Parts: sequence; C-alpha cells; structure tokens
Amino acid sequence: MQVKTAEFVMSNTRVDLCPEPTKPEYAFIGRSNVGKSSLINMITNHKNLAKTSGKPGKTQLINHFIINEEWYLVDLPGYGYAKASKKSRAQWDQFITRYMLERENLLYVFLLIDCRIPAQKIDLEFMEFLGTKGIPFIIVFTKMDKLSGSAFGKNIAAYKKTLLETWDELPIMVFSSATAAKGREEVLDIIEQTNTD
Ligand code: GDP
Repeated sequence: MQVKTAEFVMSNTRVDLCPEPTKPEYAFIGRSNVGKSSLINMITNHKNLAKTSGKPGKTQLINHFIINEEWYLVDLPGYGYAKASKKSRAQWDQFITRYMLERENLLYVFLLIDCRIPAQKIDLEFMEFLGTKGIPFIIVFTKMDKLSGSAFGKNIAAYKKTLLETWDELPIMVFSSATAAKGREEVLDIIEQTNTD
C-alpha cells in the first residue's frame, strides 16, 4: 500500500468522542519510549505526524490520524512509565480497556516491543488481556538496528519461547527499525490485507 495522505484528525480522552466508527481502525501501543512515534512517522512518511514524547506518561490521549482517507491510524498512550503514579496507571488501565472493548471498528492492535529488552510482565499481561477479549494483535519488534544480527536472533528466539509458554500459537511478528527504515512495508501489507472494506 502506498501512503498518499496522512492527516491528524483529533485527540481525545474518551472513546465515545472518537470519530464515527465508519472506517477500519488500527491502533499502535507499547511501553513508553518503545519507538511508537518514530514507527508511526516512518509508516506515514511524515517527520512529525506523531509527536515524539517529551514527557512520557503525562498525557493520556487517543490520537486519530486518517490515512488515504480510508482508514484510521490510532496512536495510543504508552504504558509502563516507571515514574507514573498509581493513580495514572489505574486511569490508563481503565481508559485503554474501554477503548479496546468499545471501539467497534478496531481491526488490529500493533503492540510494539523493544527488541533489546527481555519479555516484560506488563507486555505479556497486556497480550493476555487482548487474547482473552479476542482482540487480534501483531507484535512489532522495534529498534532492530540497535542489535547485531546474532544478538537480535537470540532475543527474538527467547521472546518466542516465552510466548509459547502461554500461547498455543505465536502472533504475527514484524521486525522494524525507524532509523534503518525497516518494517514499513510489512506493517502496510498487513493493513492492506486485513482492510477488506
Ligand atoms: P515513543 O515514546 O514510544 O513514542 O518513542 P519515540 O518514537 O519517541 O522514541 C524513543 C527514543 O527511541 C527516541 O530517542 C528515538 O529517537 C529512539 N528510537 C525510536 N525508534 C528507533 C529505532 O528504530 N532505532 C533507534 N536506534 N532508535 C530509535
């Protein structure tokens, strides 16, 4: 798929205030600093469509972008920010749960994982939540340029092994680097294949 147009639509704190759910939607989420804004900017061919987060964990907004006037790309707030208060974590939980369960046009969640970091409880729990609710997700490993080929292979093998302790099947995985422009086509292909409207 070619990205011809990518435009900001709105930011919101409530799922009921999001755009009318008349177009397919793909959400991007992950721990703070995972490289989500960089990935979104790479995918959409924009330098600053998604704002790289100066203050992680502060604003909890659902950011809608419209791509090719056909589908919504949604930038969701990062989680797992070490300094976040208990209250803001609880708010995030409630906010994301509502979005995931109530957004009827949501087709896929792209869950971003930093390929350098071993499997984290918070990510595994989030996948479990998605699985329990039947929300399809794809793992996007980020920042692959930061590892050598062998270290990368080792980390991914370890991650898969951890997943197979609880999952019967591995989810679709994409390997990306915003710096080295990798993974863009793969993400866009998945969107094209699943967006059958
Ligand atoms: P977000 O908080 O998840 O939106 O993450 P950002 O996109 O703001 O990225 C966090 C930091 O990681 C920034 O310093 C980015 O420059 C850096 N970063 C993001 N993606 C990559 C990547 O693919 N490779 C490298 N080397 N650095 C990256």
